[in-house]
Amino acid sequence: MASDIEPARPVPRFPEPDTEPFYARCREHRLSYQTCRSCGAIVFYPRSHCTRCTATELQWHDSEGRGLIYSVTVMRQHSHPAFRARLPVAVALVDLDEGFRMFSEIITTDPSALRIGQRVTVTWIEEGDVVLPAFTPAEEC
Ligand SMILES: [Zn+2]
Repeated sequence: MASDIEPARPVPRFPEPDTEPFYARCREHRLSYQTCRSCGAIVFYPRSHCTRCTATELQWHDSEGRGLIYSVTVMRQHSHPAFRARLPVAVALVDLDEGFRMFSEIITTDPSALRIGQRVTVTWIEEGDVVLPAFTPAEEC
């Protein structure tokens, strides 16, 4: 959570019918995604319809929160003061093991060491009443 001197990061605002169930699950530290009951397609980000067949019968699932970095970059400049105070910040496209891809921050002490294909695990950023998913490098086995 941001302190009194740190500006808060931008967060989703509610009500928002398509994404509110997703963020409600995040408050329980559950990373979720949807599948289409009609054609079986995986749907992410959260929506009210299937992106393959447009059916509106979607089902929620919990992800194990493990995946790999598809693409990564390190922000060394940012116009928003909440991020400027925390630079450098790593952001990535993460391919989750269940088959969906999401954009997220990677929390690490060494952003320059992040690599494409590196395994990551979900973690959580608490920002006021909103809980945001982020990732950290997975423990090496
Ligand atoms: Zn479908």
